[in-house]
Amino acid sequence: MKVLREVDLQALNTLGLPATAESLTRVASVDEARDALAWAEVRGCSLTVIGGGSNLVLQPWLPGLVVVPSGTDWHLEPLAGDDVRVQVAAGVNWHRLVVALAEQGLWGTENLALIPGLAGAAPIQNIGAYGVELAEVLEAVHLIERDTLEARVLTREECAFGYRDSVFKQALAGRVIITRLVLRVSRRPRPRLDYGDLAARVPASPSAADVVAAVSAVRREKLPDPAVLGNAGSFFTNPVIDVARAQRLLDEWPGMPHFPLADGRVKLAAGWLIDRSGLKGLRDGHVGVHDRQALVLVHHGGGSAAELLALAERVAAMVEARFGVRLTREPRVLGEAVPGKA
Ligand SMILES: Cc1cc2nc3c(=O)[nH]c(=O)nc-3n(C[C@H](O)[C@H](O)[C@H](O)COP(=O)(O)OP(=O)(O)OC[C@H]3O[C@@H](n4cnc5c(N)ncnc54)[C@H](O)[C@@H]3O)c2cc1C
Repeated sequence: MKVLREVDLQALNTLGLPATAESLTRVASVDEARDALAWAEVRGCSLTVIGGGSNLVLQPWLPGLVVVPSGTDWHLEPLAGDDVRVQVAAGVNWHRLVVALAEQGLWGTENLALIPGLAGAAPIQNIGAYGVELAEVLEAVHLIERDTLEARVLTREECAFGYRDSVFKQALAGRVIITRLVLRVSRRPRPRLDYGDLAARVPASPSAADVVAAVSAVRREKLPDPAVLGNAGSFFTNPVIDVARAQRLLDEWPGMPHFPLADGRVKLAAGWLIDRSGLKGLRDGHVGVHDRQALVLVHHGGGSAAELLALAERVAAMVEARFGVRLTREPRVLGEAVPGKA
């Protein structure tokens, strides 16, 4: 097992925040993941898994061992009828997988195009975009339990998926290394174009590749490219409130976007709440609120996690003062502000 010391993580997080890992290793197989867990156990040090670093706020120091999944194999298993099973190693680049499946005429993941990161992280927050969530195509998740080193397979039901939520953010948070996903896609065309203006951007009877191209084009127009401007996508989840509170807000703000949910509650648009709090385009030192998409906090360079988290708190406090709604942060904060002090 190759362990690198004092590894610069700035290029390994899409916010581009300065951070250093005490040590880092890449694991391409279940056995290598077990070796990494044993290595950390013997030394009594902490272990952190990082994928593409696109849903993280990294503090300056990551103590112990950082593990990066690096297995990139994936393959198809034809099933009876039109369905096809896809076995995907945790280190596969998510967007490249989506493109490859669409090019082979396989439907199911096309609306999830251009979401950064690795496949292994996709179940953590049940990635979703353009009316589709990972849960709809996921059959199973292979993982290793960190405490027992035992390999397990969780069914979709056991993953307890919800809106930007799963068992991996709840009961199993920080307790597993995901090593493989099993997806189920289909050769039967099933375009999902009911979100935004997607339908207007594809030809009649589109191919899955047409939908990937349309979703990618919309995303490029709306979201800053992390390669150009550091960001972690949506910084807050859309708040879900009860219907009585939603009605009171709608009485005051008739134009407020709101989406009734199956359970009777109402989802609000966090970006609209931030925009209407007058924060879109705000710049505060090295960080700010994106000028086209208020839900995205950006790092202009030269800043720190502390600055970004202070801005996030300021945004949340202003939205709460105006709308009485508390925003919840989406990216996970990892590491220590000062070595030895989490
Ligand atoms: C420009 C941009 C747009 C985005 N758009 C969307 C979007 O439309 N929809 C959406 O849902 N998300 C979106 N995101 C967020 C992000 O891309 C996803 O959450 C993605 O799945 C994170 O993958 P990652 O490999 O970068 O994970 P990381 O950020 O590296 O890690 C995220 C979390 O998962 C854990 N983790 C990662 N891999 C594993 C593993 N193998 N086993 C166990 N734990 C693991 C980490 O410890 C961490 O807690 C966007 C981000 C950006 C920057």
